[in-house]
Amino acid sequence: MRASQFFISTLKEAPADAEVASHKLMMRAGMIKRLGAGIYNYMPMGLRVIRKVEAIIREEMNRAGAVELLMPVVQPAELWQETGRFEKMGPELLRVKDRHDRDFIIQPTSEEVVTDIARQELRSYKQLPKNFYHIQTKFRDERRPRFGVMRGREFTMKDAYSFDRDAAGATRSYESMFAAYKRIFDRFGLEYRAVAADTGAIGGDLSHEFQVIADTGEDAIVYCPTSDYAANIELAEAVAPAAPRAAAAEALVKAPTPGKSTCAAVAELLGLPLSRTVKSLVLATDEWNDEGDLVKSTVWLLLVRGDHEMNEIKVGKVEGLKSGFRFATAAEIDAHFGCKPGYLGPIGLKQPLKIVADRTVAAMSDFVCGANDEDFHFTGVNWGRDLPEPDVVADIRNIVAGDPSPDGQGVLAIQRGIEVGHVFYLGTKYSKAMNATFLDETGKPALFEMGCYGIGVTRILGAAIEQNHDARGIIWPDAMAPFTLAVCPIGADRSAAVKAAAQALYDELDAAGIDVILDDRGERPGAMFADWELIGVPHRVVISDRGLKEGQLEYQGRRDEAATKVPAGEVAAFVK
Ligand code: ATP
Ligand code: MG
Ligand code: MG
Ligand code: MG
Repeated sequence: MRASQFFISTLKEAPADAEVASHKLMMRAGMIKRLGAGIYNYMPMGLRVIRKVEAIIREEMNRAGAVELLMPVVQPAELWQETGRFEKMGPELLRVKDRHDRDFIIQPTSEEVVTDIARQELRSYKQLPKNFYHIQTKFRDERRPRFGVMRGREFTMKDAYSFDRDAAGATRSYESMFAAYKRIFDRFGLEYRAVAADTGAIGGDLSHEFQVIADTGEDAIVYCPTSDYAANIELAEAVAPAAPRAAAAEALVKAPTPGKSTCAAVAELLGLPLSRTVKSLVLATDEWNDEGDLVKSTVWLLLVRGDHEMNEIKVGKVEGLKSGFRFATAAEIDAHFGCKPGYLGPIGLKQPLKIVADRTVAAMSDFVCGANDEDFHFTGVNWGRDLPEPDVVADIRNIVAGDPSPDGQGVLAIQRGIEVGHVFYLGTKYSKAMNATFLDETGKPALFEMGCYGIGVTRILGAAIEQNHDARGIIWPDAMAPFTLAVCPIGADRSAAVKAAAQALYDELDAAGIDVILDDRGERPGAMFADWELIGVPHRVVISDRGLKEGQLEYQGRRDEAATKVPAGEVAAFVK
Protein backbone atom coordinates (compact mmCIF):
# COMPACT_ATOMS: atom_id res chain seq x y z
CA MET A 1 0.00 0.00 0.00
CA ARG A 2 1.15 3.52 -0.78
CA ALA A 3 0.34 6.18 1.79
CA SER A 4 -0.57 8.66 -0.96
CA GLN A 5 -3.30 6.31 -2.20
CA PHE A 6 -4.51 5.31 1.22
CA PHE A 7 -6.45 7.62 3.55
CA ILE A 8 -4.53 9.05 6.46
CA SER A 9 -6.09 11.74 8.60
CA THR A 10 -4.45 12.48 11.94
CA LEU A 11 -5.32 15.12 14.54
CA LYS A 12 -3.13 16.99 17.01
CA GLU A 13 -5.90 17.22 19.61
CA ALA A 14 -8.52 14.75 20.70
CA PRO A 15 -12.14 15.94 20.90
CA ALA A 16 -13.27 17.08 24.34
CA ASP A 17 -15.69 14.18 24.88
CA ALA A 18 -12.91 11.58 24.68
CA GLU A 19 -12.13 10.53 28.26
CA VAL A 20 -9.83 7.53 28.01
CA ALA A 21 -6.57 7.02 26.12
CA SER A 22 -7.95 4.56 23.59
CA HIS A 23 -10.83 6.82 22.61
CA LYS A 24 -8.55 9.84 22.30
CA LEU A 25 -5.93 7.98 20.30
CA MET A 26 -8.39 6.29 17.95
CA MET A 27 -9.90 9.68 17.17
CA ARG A 28 -6.51 11.34 16.74
CA ALA A 29 -5.17 8.51 14.58
CA GLY A 30 -8.19 8.80 12.30
CA MET A 31 -9.39 5.25 13.00
CA ILE A 32 -12.96 6.20 13.86
CA LYS A 33 -15.17 9.20 13.31
CA ARG A 34 -18.17 9.97 15.46
CA LEU A 35 -21.56 10.06 13.77
CA GLY A 36 -23.77 10.11 16.86
CA ALA A 37 -23.65 9.01 20.51
CA GLY A 38 -22.06 5.56 20.50
CA ILE A 39 -22.18 5.41 16.70
CA TYR A 40 -18.97 5.63 14.68
CA ASN A 41 -17.70 5.49 11.14
CA TYR A 42 -14.89 2.98 10.98
CA MET A 43 -12.41 4.89 8.86
CA PRO A 44 -9.99 3.04 6.54
CA MET A 45 -7.16 2.90 9.09
CA GLY A 46 -9.47 1.56 11.83
CA LEU A 47 -11.20 -0.86 9.49
CA ARG A 48 -7.90 -2.53 8.68
CA VAL A 49 -7.48 -3.33 12.39
CA ILE A 50 -11.05 -4.61 12.61
CA ARG A 51 -10.46 -6.86 9.62
CA LYS A 52 -7.32 -8.32 11.21
CA VAL A 53 -9.17 -8.98 14.45
CA GLU A 54 -12.00 -10.63 12.54
CA ALA A 55 -9.60 -12.78 10.52
CA ILE A 56 -7.97 -14.23 13.64
CA ILE A 57 -11.35 -14.87 15.24
CA ARG A 58 -12.62 -16.52 12.07
CA GLU A 59 -9.57 -18.76 11.75
CA GLU A 60 -9.81 -19.99 15.31
CA MET A 61 -13.58 -20.44 15.22
CA ASN A 62 -13.26 -22.49 12.05
CA ARG A 63 -10.39 -24.47 13.56
CA ALA A 64 -12.65 -25.27 16.53
CA GLY A 65 -15.26 -26.64 14.15
CA ALA A 66 -17.73 -23.74 14.24
CA VAL A 67 -19.56 -22.92 11.02
CA GLU A 68 -20.03 -19.37 9.77
CA LEU A 69 -23.37 -18.02 8.59
CA LEU A 70 -24.87 -14.53 8.66
CA MET A 71 -28.09 -13.60 10.41
CA PRO A 72 -29.94 -10.34 9.73
CA VAL A 73 -29.50 -7.16 11.70
CA VAL A 74 -33.23 -6.43 11.49
CA GLN A 75 -35.25 -9.27 12.99
CA PRO A 76 -39.01 -9.81 13.21
CA ALA A 77 -40.43 -9.30 16.71
CA GLU A 78 -42.36 -12.58 16.61
CA LEU A 79 -39.30 -14.67 17.47
CA TRP A 80 -38.45 -12.33 20.32
CA GLN A 81 -42.01 -12.62 21.55
CA GLU A 82 -41.64 -16.40 21.69
CA THR A 83 -38.92 -16.11 24.31
CA GLY A 84 -40.57 -13.14 25.97
CA ARG A 85 -37.52 -10.96 25.45
CA PHE A 86 -39.43 -8.51 23.25
CA GLU A 87 -41.34 -7.42 26.34
CA LYS A 88 -38.83 -8.25 29.05
CA MET A 89 -35.74 -6.55 27.71
CA GLY A 90 -35.35 -2.96 28.73
CA PRO A 91 -34.75 0.05 26.51
CA GLU A 92 -31.39 -1.40 25.44
CA LEU A 93 -33.37 -3.36 22.83
CA LEU A 94 -34.09 -1.09 19.87
CA ARG A 95 -37.59 -1.74 18.59
CA VAL A 96 -38.68 -0.44 15.20
CA LYS A 97 -41.80 -0.66 13.06
CA ASP A 98 -42.02 -1.20 9.33
CA ARG A 99 -44.46 0.56 6.97
CA HIS A 100 -47.16 -2.01 7.81
CA ASP A 101 -46.86 -1.20 11.49
CA ARG A 102 -45.22 -4.54 12.18
CA ASP A 103 -42.69 -4.78 15.00
CA PHE A 104 -39.02 -5.49 14.44
CA ILE A 105 -35.90 -5.28 16.53
CA ILE A 106 -32.31 -4.39 15.68
CA GLN A 107 -30.37 -7.33 16.98
CA PRO A 108 -28.39 -6.93 20.20
CA THR A 109 -27.57 -10.67 19.93
CA SER A 110 -29.08 -13.60 18.00
CA GLU A 111 -30.27 -16.46 20.23
CA GLU A 112 -33.83 -16.34 18.89
CA VAL A 113 -32.92 -16.39 15.21
CA VAL A 114 -30.29 -19.10 15.52
CA THR A 115 -32.64 -21.27 17.59
CA ASP A 116 -35.27 -20.80 14.90
CA ILE A 117 -32.75 -22.00 12.32
CA ALA A 118 -31.81 -25.00 14.46
CA ARG A 119 -35.38 -26.14 15.04
CA GLN A 120 -35.96 -26.16 11.31
CA GLU A 121 -32.63 -27.49 10.09
CA LEU A 122 -31.23 -29.76 12.81
CA ARG A 123 -33.76 -32.58 12.87
CA SER A 124 -31.71 -35.54 14.02
CA TYR A 125 -29.15 -36.27 16.71
CA LYS A 126 -26.93 -37.34 13.80
CA GLN A 127 -26.53 -33.67 12.83
CA LEU A 128 -25.24 -32.76 16.28
CA PRO A 129 -23.17 -31.17 17.66
CA LYS A 130 -23.31 -27.97 15.60
CA ASN A 131 -21.91 -24.57 16.31
CA PHE A 132 -23.08 -21.64 14.18
CA TYR A 133 -21.40 -18.28 14.33
CA HIS A 134 -21.43 -14.93 12.63
CA ILE A 135 -19.57 -11.65 12.81
CA GLN A 136 -22.28 -9.06 12.61
CA THR A 137 -23.33 -5.54 13.53
CA LYS A 138 -25.14 -5.27 16.84
CA PHE A 139 -27.18 -2.48 18.31
CA ARG A 140 -27.70 -1.93 22.03
CA ASP A 141 -29.21 1.33 23.11
CA GLU A 142 -26.76 1.64 26.01
CA ARG A 143 -27.81 4.07 28.69
CA ARG A 144 -24.36 5.53 28.72
CA PRO A 145 -22.38 4.93 25.56
CA ARG A 146 -18.82 6.07 26.14
CA PHE A 147 -15.13 5.47 25.59
CA GLY A 148 -15.53 5.30 21.81
CA VAL A 149 -15.78 1.76 20.46
CA MET A 150 -15.48 0.36 23.96
CA ARG A 151 -19.12 0.94 24.82
CA GLY A 152 -20.77 1.82 21.57
CA ARG A 153 -24.42 1.53 20.70
CA GLU A 154 -23.67 0.13 17.26
CA PHE A 155 -20.76 -2.29 17.39
CA THR A 156 -19.48 -5.51 15.88
CA MET A 157 -19.70 -8.79 17.73
CA LYS A 158 -18.73 -12.32 16.90
CA ASP A 159 -21.46 -14.47 18.38
CA ALA A 160 -21.52 -18.26 18.24
CA TYR A 161 -24.20 -20.68 19.35
CA SER A 162 -23.70 -24.39 20.01
CA PHE A 163 -26.36 -27.08 19.77
CA ASP A 164 -25.85 -30.41 21.51
CA ARG A 165 -27.90 -33.50 22.24
CA ASP A 166 -27.19 -33.49 25.99
CA ALA A 167 -25.50 -31.60 28.79
CA ALA A 168 -22.29 -33.62 28.48
CA GLY A 169 -22.04 -32.67 24.81
CA ALA A 170 -22.78 -29.04 25.62
CA THR A 171 -19.98 -29.08 28.19
CA ARG A 172 -17.57 -30.34 25.54
CA SER A 173 -18.71 -27.59 23.15
CA TYR A 174 -18.20 -25.05 25.92
CA GLU A 175 -14.71 -26.32 26.65
CA SER A 176 -13.80 -26.25 22.99
CA MET A 177 -14.94 -22.62 22.74
CA PHE A 178 -13.09 -21.76 25.94
CA ALA A 179 -9.89 -23.16 24.40
CA ALA A 180 -10.52 -21.32 21.12
CA TYR A 181 -10.96 -18.06 23.01
CA LYS A 182 -7.62 -18.57 24.73
CA ARG A 183 -5.95 -19.10 21.37
CA ILE A 184 -7.65 -15.99 19.98
CA PHE A 185 -6.59 -13.70 22.82
CA ASP A 186 -3.10 -15.21 22.90
CA ARG A 187 -2.74 -14.45 19.19
CA PHE A 188 -3.82 -10.85 19.71
CA GLY A 189 -0.94 -10.54 22.15
CA LEU A 190 -3.07 -9.07 24.94
CA GLU A 191 -2.76 -9.53 28.68
CA TYR A 192 -6.06 -11.04 29.76
CA ARG A 193 -7.72 -13.23 32.34
CA ALA A 194 -10.58 -15.71 31.95
CA VAL A 195 -12.75 -15.16 35.01
CA ALA A 196 -15.71 -17.13 36.27
CA ALA A 197 -18.98 -15.25 35.92
CA ASP A 198 -22.47 -15.65 37.29
CA THR A 199 -24.78 -18.00 35.45
CA GLY A 200 -27.89 -16.42 36.93
CA ALA A 201 -31.06 -18.45 36.57
CA ILE A 202 -29.35 -21.10 34.43
CA GLY A 203 -27.21 -22.35 37.30
CA GLY A 204 -24.04 -24.38 37.03
CA ASP A 205 -20.59 -22.95 36.72
CA LEU A 206 -20.17 -22.68 32.98
CA SER A 207 -19.82 -18.98 32.36
CA HIS A 208 -16.55 -17.15 31.88
CA GLU A 209 -15.72 -13.66 30.87
CA PHE A 210 -12.49 -12.90 29.06
CA GLN A 211 -11.21 -9.70 30.56
CA VAL A 212 -8.39 -7.62 29.15
CA ILE A 213 -6.49 -6.14 32.09
CA ALA A 214 -6.65 -2.33 32.13
CA ASP A 215 -7.04 0.27 34.87
CA THR A 216 -9.69 2.06 32.86
CA GLY A 217 -11.79 -1.10 32.60
CA GLU A 218 -15.40 -0.84 33.71
CA ASP A 219 -15.37 -4.28 35.34
CA ALA A 220 -13.68 -5.38 38.53
CA ILE A 221 -11.93 -8.74 38.62
CA VAL A 222 -11.26 -10.56 41.85
CA TYR A 223 -8.42 -13.05 41.80
CA CYS A 224 -6.05 -14.87 44.08
CA PRO A 225 -2.39 -14.45 43.10
CA THR A 226 -1.47 -17.73 44.79
CA SER A 227 -4.16 -19.92 43.25
CA ASP A 228 -6.32 -20.27 40.13
CA TYR A 229 -9.24 -18.38 41.63
CA ALA A 230 -10.51 -15.62 39.34
CA ALA A 231 -14.05 -14.32 39.17
CA ASN A 232 -15.85 -11.18 38.21
CA ILE A 233 -16.91 -9.04 41.11
CA GLU A 234 -20.57 -10.05 40.97
CA LEU A 235 -19.75 -13.71 41.37
CA ALA A 236 -16.99 -13.10 43.90
CA GLU A 237 -19.24 -11.08 46.14
CA ALA A 238 -21.89 -13.76 46.03
CA VAL A 239 -19.53 -16.35 47.49
CA ALA A 240 -17.20 -14.17 49.54
CA PRO A 241 -16.91 -14.97 53.23
CA ALA A 242 -18.53 -12.41 55.50
CA ALA A 243 -16.37 -9.35 55.70
CA PRO A 244 -14.16 -9.47 58.77
CA ARG A 245 -14.97 -5.88 59.67
CA ALA A 246 -18.71 -6.22 59.26
CA ALA A 247 -19.54 -7.06 62.86
CA ALA A 248 -17.60 -4.14 64.23
CA ALA A 249 -19.18 -1.83 61.72
CA GLU A 250 -22.61 -3.09 62.59
CA ALA A 251 -22.00 -2.42 66.27
CA LEU A 252 -20.86 1.04 65.45
CA VAL A 253 -24.00 1.79 63.52
CA LYS A 254 -26.18 0.48 66.32
CA ALA A 255 -24.43 2.71 68.82
CA PRO A 256 -23.28 5.85 67.08
CA THR A 257 -20.38 7.74 68.60
CA PRO A 258 -21.65 10.99 70.07
CA GLY A 259 -20.47 14.01 68.18
CA LYS A 260 -19.23 12.04 65.23
CA SER A 261 -21.13 11.27 62.10
CA THR A 262 -21.84 7.59 61.71
CA CYS A 263 -20.85 7.97 58.13
CA ALA A 264 -17.37 9.14 59.06
CA ALA A 265 -16.97 6.63 61.87
CA VAL A 266 -17.94 3.69 59.71
CA ALA A 267 -15.77 4.92 56.90
CA GLU A 268 -12.83 5.17 59.27
CA LEU A 269 -13.40 1.67 60.51
CA LEU A 270 -13.57 0.32 56.98
CA GLY A 271 -10.46 2.19 55.98
CA LEU A 272 -12.47 3.99 53.33
CA PRO A 273 -10.64 7.24 52.75
CA LEU A 274 -13.39 9.63 51.91
CA SER A 275 -12.15 12.48 49.82
CA ARG A 276 -13.00 16.07 50.53
CA THR A 277 -15.31 16.40 47.60
CA VAL A 278 -16.85 13.00 47.36
CA LYS A 279 -17.80 10.96 50.31
CA SER A 280 -19.45 7.69 49.70
CA LEU A 281 -20.70 4.98 51.92
CA VAL A 282 -22.70 1.91 51.31
CA LEU A 283 -24.92 0.30 53.88
CA ALA A 284 -27.00 -2.75 53.30
CA THR A 285 -30.07 -4.17 54.93
CA ASP A 286 -30.61 -7.86 54.42
CA GLU A 287 -33.80 -9.79 54.98
CA TRP A 288 -33.61 -13.48 55.75
CA ASN A 289 -36.36 -16.07 55.76
CA ASP A 290 -36.87 -18.72 58.46
CA GLU A 291 -34.60 -21.16 56.63
CA GLY A 292 -31.85 -18.62 56.82
CA ASP A 293 -31.83 -17.80 53.10
CA LEU A 294 -31.19 -14.29 52.02
CA VAL A 295 -34.44 -13.22 50.40
CA LYS A 296 -33.86 -9.58 49.88
CA SER A 297 -30.94 -7.29 50.11
CA THR A 298 -31.35 -3.58 50.08
CA VAL A 299 -28.33 -1.45 49.54
CA TRP A 300 -28.33 2.16 50.51
CA LEU A 301 -25.74 4.16 48.79
CA LEU A 302 -24.95 7.49 50.24
CA LEU A 303 -22.97 9.81 48.11
CA VAL A 304 -22.13 13.09 49.66
CA ARG A 305 -20.74 15.85 47.61
CA GLY A 306 -19.25 19.15 48.54
CA ASP A 307 -17.77 20.21 51.82
CA HIS A 308 -18.44 18.61 55.13
CA GLU A 309 -21.21 20.80 56.32
CA MET A 310 -23.83 19.99 53.83
CA ASN A 311 -24.20 20.77 50.24
CA GLU A 312 -25.67 17.66 48.84
CA ILE A 313 -26.46 14.19 49.95
CA LYS A 314 -27.98 11.73 47.59
CA VAL A 315 -29.36 8.55 48.89
CA GLY A 316 -29.78 5.76 46.45
CA LYS A 317 -31.58 2.53 47.06
CA VAL A 318 -30.92 -0.72 45.27
CA GLU A 319 -33.29 -3.51 45.98
CA GLY A 320 -32.52 -7.15 45.50
CA LEU A 321 -29.03 -6.14 44.43
CA LYS A 322 -29.81 -6.50 40.76
CA SER A 323 -33.38 -5.48 40.30
CA GLY A 324 -32.77 -1.89 39.46
CA PHE A 325 -31.74 1.37 40.95
CA ARG A 326 -33.74 4.41 41.77
CA PHE A 327 -33.39 7.25 44.18
CA ALA A 328 -35.24 6.66 47.36
CA THR A 329 -38.00 9.15 48.00
CA ALA A 330 -37.61 11.68 50.76
CA ALA A 331 -40.26 9.86 52.77
CA GLU A 332 -38.43 6.54 52.47
CA ILE A 333 -35.16 8.05 53.55
CA ASP A 334 -36.83 9.75 56.43
CA ALA A 335 -38.54 6.56 57.50
CA HIS A 336 -35.45 4.44 57.23
CA PHE A 337 -32.61 6.62 58.35
CA GLY A 338 -34.38 9.26 60.24
CA CYS A 339 -32.68 11.94 58.24
CA LYS A 340 -33.60 14.04 55.27
CA PRO A 341 -31.79 14.32 51.98
CA GLY A 342 -29.51 17.28 52.15
CA TYR A 343 -28.61 16.62 55.75
CA LEU A 344 -25.26 15.20 56.67
CA GLY A 345 -24.67 14.32 60.23
CA PRO A 346 -25.11 11.48 62.65
CA ILE A 347 -27.53 9.11 61.04
CA GLY A 348 -30.00 8.15 63.69
CA LEU A 349 -30.96 4.69 62.64
CA LYS A 350 -34.37 3.46 63.49
CA GLN A 351 -33.55 -0.15 62.78
CA PRO A 352 -30.35 -2.16 62.81
CA LEU A 353 -28.43 -2.12 59.58
CA LYS A 354 -26.23 -4.97 58.55
CA ILE A 355 -23.13 -3.69 56.93
CA VAL A 356 -21.87 -5.96 54.22
CA ALA A 357 -18.94 -3.71 53.94
CA ASP A 358 -16.39 -5.16 51.62
CA ARG A 359 -18.62 -7.08 49.35
CA THR A 360 -21.25 -4.46 48.93
CA VAL A 361 -18.92 -1.57 48.45
CA ALA A 362 -17.13 -3.54 45.79
CA ALA A 363 -20.36 -4.46 44.08
CA MET A 364 -21.35 -0.85 44.08
CA SER A 365 -18.10 0.27 42.56
CA ASP A 366 -19.44 -0.27 39.11
CA PHE A 367 -22.38 1.84 39.95
CA VAL A 368 -20.33 4.60 41.47
CA CYS A 369 -18.35 4.68 38.28
CA GLY A 370 -21.53 4.67 36.26
CA ALA A 371 -20.71 1.33 34.74
CA ASN A 372 -22.59 -1.93 34.63
CA ASP A 373 -25.38 -0.06 33.02
CA GLU A 374 -28.08 -2.62 32.69
CA ASP A 375 -28.11 -3.42 36.37
CA PHE A 376 -28.79 0.05 37.59
CA HIS A 377 -31.31 2.42 36.21
CA PHE A 378 -31.56 5.79 37.76
CA THR A 379 -33.48 8.81 36.76
CA GLY A 380 -32.96 12.51 36.57
CA VAL A 381 -29.49 13.10 37.38
CA ASN A 382 -26.22 12.01 35.82
CA TRP A 383 -23.86 12.69 38.62
CA GLY A 384 -21.61 9.75 37.86
CA ARG A 385 -19.94 11.79 35.16
CA ASP A 386 -18.56 14.42 37.50
CA LEU A 387 -17.14 12.06 40.07
CA PRO A 388 -13.37 11.78 40.24
CA GLU A 389 -13.70 8.14 39.26
CA PRO A 390 -10.17 6.83 39.86
CA ASP A 391 -10.30 8.01 43.47
CA VAL A 392 -13.52 6.22 44.11
CA VAL A 393 -12.21 3.07 42.48
CA ALA A 394 -9.04 3.19 44.53
CA ASP A 395 -11.06 3.59 47.71
CA ILE A 396 -13.09 0.57 46.89
CA ARG A 397 -10.11 -1.54 45.92
CA ASN A 398 -8.50 -0.99 49.27
CA ILE A 399 -11.45 -2.52 50.90
CA VAL A 400 -11.65 -5.84 49.15
CA ALA A 401 -8.02 -6.57 48.44
CA GLY A 402 -6.51 -8.68 51.18
CA ASP A 403 -9.68 -10.50 52.12
CA PRO A 404 -9.46 -14.31 52.19
CA SER A 405 -9.95 -16.09 48.88
CA PRO A 406 -13.04 -18.36 48.76
CA ASP A 407 -10.82 -21.33 47.84
CA GLY A 408 -8.82 -20.84 51.04
CA GLN A 409 -5.60 -20.68 49.07
CA GLY A 410 -4.59 -17.12 49.82
CA VAL A 411 -5.90 -13.60 49.82
CA LEU A 412 -7.79 -11.73 47.15
CA ALA A 413 -6.48 -9.05 44.89
CA ILE A 414 -8.56 -6.78 42.70
CA GLN A 415 -7.84 -5.41 39.30
CA ARG A 416 -9.91 -3.74 36.64
CA GLY A 417 -10.68 -5.29 33.31
CA ILE A 418 -12.48 -4.82 30.02
CA GLU A 419 -14.88 -7.61 29.09
CA VAL A 420 -13.90 -8.59 25.56
CA GLY A 421 -15.47 -12.03 25.43
CA HIS A 422 -18.07 -14.11 27.20
CA VAL A 423 -18.76 -17.84 27.00
CA PHE A 424 -22.00 -19.06 28.49
CA TYR A 425 -23.77 -22.39 28.90
CA LEU A 426 -27.44 -21.74 28.17
CA GLY A 427 -28.89 -25.18 28.76
CA THR A 428 -32.40 -25.42 27.33
CA LYS A 429 -33.42 -21.85 28.13
CA TYR A 430 -34.03 -20.91 24.50
CA SER A 431 -34.81 -24.31 23.02
CA LYS A 432 -37.53 -24.78 25.63
CA ALA A 433 -39.07 -21.34 25.09
CA MET A 434 -39.07 -21.86 21.32
CA ASN A 435 -39.83 -25.57 21.37
CA ALA A 436 -36.67 -26.37 19.43
CA THR A 437 -36.20 -30.11 19.32
CA PHE A 438 -34.39 -32.84 17.38
CA LEU A 439 -35.14 -36.55 17.23
CA ASP A 440 -32.91 -38.58 19.53
CA GLU A 441 -31.76 -42.19 19.01
CA THR A 442 -35.10 -43.55 20.13
CA GLY A 443 -36.94 -41.28 17.68
CA LYS A 444 -38.29 -39.06 20.43
CA PRO A 445 -38.09 -35.26 20.28
CA ALA A 446 -35.54 -33.76 22.69
CA LEU A 447 -34.61 -30.16 23.48
CA PHE A 448 -31.25 -28.82 22.30
CA GLU A 449 -28.66 -28.10 24.95
CA MET A 450 -27.21 -24.76 23.95
CA GLY A 451 -24.29 -22.47 24.63
CA CYS A 452 -23.54 -18.94 23.42
CA TYR A 453 -20.16 -17.35 22.91
CA GLY A 454 -19.56 -13.65 22.21
CA ILE A 455 -16.51 -11.57 21.37
CA GLY A 456 -16.63 -7.79 21.16
CA VAL A 457 -14.74 -7.30 17.89
CA THR A 458 -14.71 -3.51 17.92
CA ARG A 459 -14.29 -3.30 21.70
CA ILE A 460 -11.04 -5.26 21.35
CA LEU A 461 -9.47 -2.29 19.54
CA GLY A 462 -10.11 -0.05 22.52
CA ALA A 463 -8.98 -2.69 25.00
CA ALA A 464 -5.75 -3.32 23.09
CA ILE A 465 -4.93 0.40 23.05
CA GLU A 466 -5.66 0.84 26.76
CA GLN A 467 -2.98 -1.78 27.32
CA ASN A 468 -0.57 -0.66 24.61
CA HIS A 469 0.11 3.04 24.21
CA ASP A 470 2.53 5.74 25.25
CA ALA A 471 2.72 9.53 25.10
CA ARG A 472 3.28 9.42 21.34
CA GLY A 473 0.37 7.20 20.47
CA ILE A 474 -0.85 3.66 19.93
CA ILE A 475 1.48 0.64 19.99
CA TRP A 476 -0.39 -2.11 18.16
CA PRO A 477 0.53 -5.71 18.81
CA ASP A 478 1.78 -7.02 15.44
CA ALA A 479 -1.24 -9.24 14.93
CA MET A 480 -3.70 -6.32 15.04
CA ALA A 481 -1.71 -3.49 13.46
CA PRO A 482 -3.28 -1.71 10.47
CA PHE A 483 0.12 -2.02 8.78
CA THR A 484 2.98 -4.07 10.14
CA LEU A 485 5.78 -1.88 8.83
CA ALA A 486 6.09 1.65 7.46
CA VAL A 487 8.84 2.43 4.97
CA CYS A 488 9.78 6.09 5.42
CA PRO A 489 12.05 7.56 2.77
CA ILE A 490 13.64 10.93 3.59
CA GLY A 491 14.06 13.34 0.73
CA ALA A 492 12.80 10.99 -1.96
CA ASP A 493 11.83 13.99 -4.09
CA ARG A 494 15.49 15.09 -4.19
CA SER A 495 17.25 11.74 -4.24
CA ALA A 496 16.65 9.12 -6.90
CA ALA A 497 18.71 6.65 -4.83
CA VAL A 498 16.42 7.03 -1.80
CA LYS A 499 13.33 6.70 -3.96
CA ALA A 500 14.62 3.57 -5.65
CA ALA A 501 15.80 1.97 -2.39
CA ALA A 502 12.44 2.64 -0.75
CA GLN A 503 10.60 1.08 -3.67
CA ALA A 504 12.93 -1.92 -3.70
CA LEU A 505 12.47 -2.49 0.03
CA TYR A 506 8.73 -2.11 -0.29
CA ASP A 507 8.62 -4.68 -3.10
CA GLU A 508 10.80 -7.12 -1.18
CA LEU A 509 8.75 -6.94 2.03
CA ASP A 510 5.48 -7.03 0.14
CA ALA A 511 6.63 -10.17 -1.69
CA ALA A 512 7.59 -11.68 1.68
CA GLY A 513 3.96 -11.29 2.78
CA ILE A 514 4.61 -8.43 5.20
CA ASP A 515 1.81 -5.88 5.45
CA VAL A 516 3.90 -2.85 4.51
CA ILE A 517 3.00 0.74 3.71
CA LEU A 518 5.32 3.04 1.75
CA ASP A 519 5.07 6.62 2.93
CA ASP A 520 5.35 8.44 -0.37
CA ARG A 521 3.43 11.52 0.78
CA GLY A 522 6.53 13.69 0.77
CA GLU A 523 5.99 14.77 4.40
CA ARG A 524 8.86 16.19 6.46
CA PRO A 525 10.51 13.49 8.61
CA GLY A 526 9.15 14.85 11.91
CA ALA A 527 5.54 14.90 10.71
CA MET A 528 5.92 11.52 9.04
CA PHE A 529 7.34 9.83 12.16
CA ALA A 530 4.74 11.49 14.40
CA ASP A 531 1.95 10.07 12.21
CA TRP A 532 3.23 6.49 12.31
CA GLU A 533 3.89 6.67 16.02
CA LEU A 534 0.39 7.98 16.65
CA ILE A 535 -1.17 5.36 14.37
CA GLY A 536 0.88 2.74 16.18
CA VAL A 537 2.54 0.87 13.34
CA PRO A 538 4.89 -1.50 15.21
CA HIS A 539 7.88 -1.40 12.81
CA ARG A 540 9.46 1.44 10.86
CA VAL A 541 12.36 1.64 8.42
CA VAL A 542 13.90 5.00 7.51
CA ILE A 543 15.80 5.34 4.25
CA SER A 544 18.08 8.32 3.76
CA ASP A 545 20.96 9.29 1.50
CA ARG A 546 23.31 9.32 4.49
CA GLY A 547 22.43 5.76 5.44
CA LEU A 548 22.54 4.51 1.89
CA LYS A 549 26.13 5.74 1.56
CA GLU A 550 27.03 3.32 4.37
CA GLY A 551 24.82 0.63 2.83
CA GLN A 552 22.50 0.83 5.86
CA LEU A 553 18.85 1.43 6.62
CA GLU A 554 17.51 2.50 9.99
CA TYR A 555 15.10 0.13 11.70
CA GLN A 556 13.08 1.17 14.76
CA GLY A 557 10.49 -0.88 16.63
CA ARG A 558 7.64 1.21 18.06
CA ARG A 559 8.82 0.55 21.61
CA ASP A 560 12.52 1.10 20.84
CA GLU A 561 14.25 4.19 22.21
CA ALA A 562 16.50 4.54 19.18
CA ALA A 563 16.96 3.23 15.67
CA THR A 564 19.24 0.32 14.75
CA LYS A 565 21.33 0.36 11.57
CA VAL A 566 20.71 -2.67 9.41
CA PRO A 567 21.84 -3.79 5.96
CA ALA A 568 18.96 -3.55 3.48
CA GLY A 569 18.54 -7.29 3.07
CA GLU A 570 17.99 -7.92 6.78
CA VAL A 571 14.94 -5.83 7.55
CA ALA A 572 12.44 -8.66 7.16
CA ALA A 573 14.08 -10.50 10.07
CA PHE A 574 12.88 -7.78 12.47
CA VAL A 575 9.27 -8.53 11.69
CA LYS A 576 8.20 -11.79 13.25
P1 ATP B 1 -21.04 -5.29 29.22
O1 ATP B 1 -21.04 -5.98 30.55
O2 ATP B 1 -19.75 -4.59 28.93
O3 ATP B 1 -22.24 -4.43 29.00
P2 ATP B 1 -22.28 -7.57 28.12
O4 ATP B 1 -22.01 -8.55 29.21
O5 ATP B 1 -23.59 -6.89 28.08
O6 ATP B 1 -21.11 -6.45 28.11
P3 ATP B 1 -22.39 -9.71 26.21
O7 ATP B 1 -23.86 -9.77 26.06
O8 ATP B 1 -21.71 -10.73 27.04
O9 ATP B 1 -21.98 -8.22 26.70
O10 ATP B 1 -21.79 -9.62 24.73
C1 ATP B 1 -20.60 -10.25 24.29
C2 ATP B 1 -19.48 -9.25 24.08
O11 ATP B 1 -19.88 -8.12 23.29
C3 ATP B 1 -18.98 -8.61 25.36
O12 ATP B 1 -18.10 -9.48 26.03
C4 ATP B 1 -18.30 -7.36 24.85
O13 ATP B 1 -16.98 -7.65 24.45
C5 ATP B 1 -19.11 -6.98 23.63
N1 ATP B 1 -20.00 -5.83 23.92
C6 ATP B 1 -21.12 -5.83 24.69
N2 ATP B 1 -21.68 -4.62 24.73
C7 ATP B 1 -20.89 -3.82 23.96
C8 ATP B 1 -20.94 -2.44 23.60
N3 ATP B 1 -21.92 -1.66 24.02
N4 ATP B 1 -19.97 -1.95 22.78
C9 ATP B 1 -18.98 -2.73 22.33
N5 ATP B 1 -18.87 -4.05 22.65
C10 ATP B 1 -19.81 -4.59 23.44
MG1 MG C 1 -24.15 -4.95 28.51
MG1 MG D 1 -21.01 -8.02 31.11
MG1 MG E 1 -21.23 -10.51 29.10
